[in-house]
Amino acid sequence: ATPVAIMVGTGKGAEMGVLFKSAEALETLHNVKTVVLDKTGTVTQGRPAVTDVLPARGADGKPVMSERALMKLAAALERKSEHPLAEAIMARADEMGVVGRVVEDFQAVPGRGVVAREGANPIAAGNAQLMAELGIEVPADELEAFARDGKTPLFFARNGRLAGTIAVADEVKPTSAAAIRALGELGVETVMLTGDNRLTAEAIARRVGVTRVIADVMPADKERQVRELQDGGARVAMVGDGINDSPALARADVGLAIGTGADIAKEGADVVLMRSDLLDVARAIELSRAVIRNIK
Ligand code: ADP
Ligand code: MG
Repeated sequence: ATPVAIMVGTGKGAEMGVLFKSAEALETLHNVKTVVLDKTGTVTQGRPAVTDVLPARGADGKPVMSERALMKLAAALERKSEHPLAEAIMARADEMGVVGRVVEDFQAVPGRGVVAREGANPIAAGNAQLMAELGIEVPADELEAFARDGKTPLFFARNGRLAGTIAVADEVKPTSAAAIRALGELGVETVMLTGDNRLTAEAIARRVGVTRVIADVMPADKERQVRELQDGGARVAMVGDGINDSPALARADVGLAIGTGADIAKEGADVVLMRSDLLDVARAIELSRAVIRNIK
């Protein structure tokens, strides 16, 4: 493209809150075939909230502890975690006036959850994979019921036994569905990429009209997933907001960071979406196509 076309295009982008960091990004975007969307904070608001607190049931069918005792265990584990899911749990604990005990040997398990020790008792919080690794069985029917509702079930354990489930929900952004429709009309395929479980991810994807979901992705593997989508030469754009997303944003042919996202995501991206609105991804592609048309 001519320098003038690029300059005009970059200026128009800035007016609508789409900051192109390079001429190359503005040019490359016109022929992306696939847009990869991170789920949490990109398709959804990124403000998860607790919806259900469900103590586990013993062999006699009675709850093994009260909701309050489960929240107390959850608060003890999550107070040291920086994960958005932990913030949701801590917000509910504060509302209930529940304070968790101080724990030792706290450790985050990436893509899985957290483990620690409460006195002599090992304790853990996380997804079904983490519980499987700890040899703890989770109620499959419960997991499915929450997940089909688009909720993320988190499991809590003490001493090798399930203590209960806390479900967390994160609403989709109001414009996500319209944005995905607009991308489809531009002939662009959308793919949702997430560390969350498949059932929850698929429920969210259905709500916004995404047909292709890559779930249960470990934080370090998002970049590899983008690389695989690029195999065969297709141009791939990636939209994300998190620290986890930054290698994938850098790997993509065009990385677009959500304005309200992590600084490191914005630094590694080629484009910053200042309004944090997915409709701007479609607008950015249209702008890029207009710039390319004008110079041909
Ligand atoms: P994402 O943010 O896309 O869900 P992560 O890799 O950060 O991906 O987390 C993957 C999954 O690991 C979460 O969906 C959750 O089930 C579990 N997890 C991570 N951190 C925590 C935590 N602090 N407490 C409970 N579960 C967690
Ligand atoms: Mg995210």
